[in-house]
Amino acid sequence: MTQVRDIMEKNVITIDYTKNALDASVILKEKEISFPTKKADLLGKLNPEMFNSNSKVQQYYDTTPIKCKVKEEKSIYISAEGILQPCCWVAGQMYNWYHTPKGSQIWSVINKVGKENISALNYTIEEILDNEYLNLVEESWSKSSCNEGKLQVCAKTCGLNDAFAQQYL
Ligand code: SF4
Repeated sequence: MTQVRDIMEKNVITIDYTKNALDASVILKEKEISFPTKKADLLGKLNPEMFNSNSKVQQYYDTTPIKCKVKEEKSIYISAEGILQPCCWVAGQMYNWYHTPKGSQIWSVINKVGKENISALNYTIEEILDNEYLNLVEESWSKSSCNEGKLQVCAKTCGLNDAFAQQYL
């Protein structure tokens, strides 16, 4: 059994594991589940990232303690455009196609320091580490909820339920 979510319409349907790919495509068509294939499909449908505190999974993200993987190993991540981020998970939040441009949560932190100030094209790594960006990321972990500024990507990646580590069991 697997679940398919129509991101545009936020519908979720379940497809039994006995179904093959052709069956699945018929079910998706019958349920009118569609996926964007062109930029025009996205117009008027994208929203800034939002958090539904009533959902159980959101309540987990809001409350789980965070044990940062990269803080422990003292690594950082530089994106292809030269932006210093703590890790690829956070960097991967910058350009989510399913949110309005700069509408994902990480931009609320980036905007506090300015994207240009965490760019390795403009500053040395040491200079960027001296600004407050990484501290702001860390400070978010103790916020009371994602709506209050706790970074959901951190709760998802480095919370108690460590899906990343579970891959290697
Ligand atoms: S997702 Fe957040 S908590 Fe996890 S490694 Fe990256 S910065 Fe640290």
